[in-house]
Amino acid sequence: MSKKLDIRALSKDQLRDFFVDKNDKPFRGNQVYEWLWRKGAHTFEDMTNISKETRLMLENNFVINHIKVDQMQKSKDGTIKNAIKLHDGLIVESVLIPTENRTTACVSSQVGCSLDCNFCATARLKKMRNLNPDEIYDQVVAIDKQSRLYRNHKLSNIVFMGMGEPLLNYKNVLMAIDKITLDDGLGMSPKRITVSTVGIPKMIKKLADDNVKFNLAVSLHSAIDEVRSKMMPINEKSNLDELLDALRYWFSKTKSRVTFEYVVWKGINDKQKDATALAEYCKKIPSKVNLIEYNAIDDGEFQQASEDATNLYIKTLEANKIIVNVRRSRGKDIDAACGQLANKTT
Ligand code: SF4
Repeated sequence: MSKKLDIRALSKDQLRDFFVDKNDKPFRGNQVYEWLWRKGAHTFEDMTNISKETRLMLENNFVINHIKVDQMQKSKDGTIKNAIKLHDGLIVESVLIPTENRTTACVSSQVGCSLDCNFCATARLKKMRNLNPDEIYDQVVAIDKQSRLYRNHKLSNIVFMGMGEPLLNYKNVLMAIDKITLDDGLGMSPKRITVSTVGIPKMIKKLADDNVKFNLAVSLHSAIDEVRSKMMPINEKSNLDELLDALRYWFSKTKSRVTFEYVVWKGINDKQKDATALAEYCKKIPSKVNLIEYNAIDDGEFQQASEDATNLYIKTLEANKIIVNVRRSRGKDIDAACGQLANKTT
């Protein structure tokens, strides 16, 4: 018996073609597509304006895979971490991050990760597979529901900062963002979405060529090659100059300023020379800096630097007229903070 296809892997055009092949109208494809994405149908039975015969025919050809929020942990500060079970039993995590008047969803793009950043809990899981567009989309829908339930307002922002490197799952991440932003999906503005990458030059240039409208963030963590390479092996393959070249290309095409995500670690990048290098790097490309508070992972050698070191960075960046924000960590008590996602709930 042949394995049934996940119907949500099909684009709208492919669905329309499917119905034409079955001697039906292409419009039927639009109706089914709307059920699948905007109305969030979980079964073909739910599609009440589709005839019984057609629903049966769909049932014989396809499945509708949905994620399941397997476990939900709430932090004292309102952060919610979800352990998400995928159709094949694998688990990823996504996080609802509340601030005063908005809710941000931090979503995963891969099961595990292949990039081995030394400070990251996810890196220890190794990459098992890419997430499908619907699995990314469903994380957003689940957090939107939680936001309405627990925060009384809809989801306002999305960051691709969960498990995995989004630009190594390029096609599926962009397909998911299409569904999130299009009117027959969630209709969210792409300006409320940020894709965060370790900085893969070739893929950043591709984003620019594909004329994407969302924001780009790069986990930089050092503007000195030797220091960055020690923390992030990707820097050995493509160094800071190559990254800069790609970011300049990105800006020339999109006119969108890049955000550098940056953690200051004790004894690693907490000196004046590190802050000066960052300021010099930022001056070469329209950018701003988010200084992120770090949460040590159990046996990690990486520890958050002192308040003085953070202040040193702020002073140095501001003296160079570079916008800098300090991002306090959320959800520390449930291991939902930045760099901590490692399926510990399972
Ligand atoms: S920081 Fe991101 S890219 Fe690096 S190992 Fe962790 S999940 Fe992968």
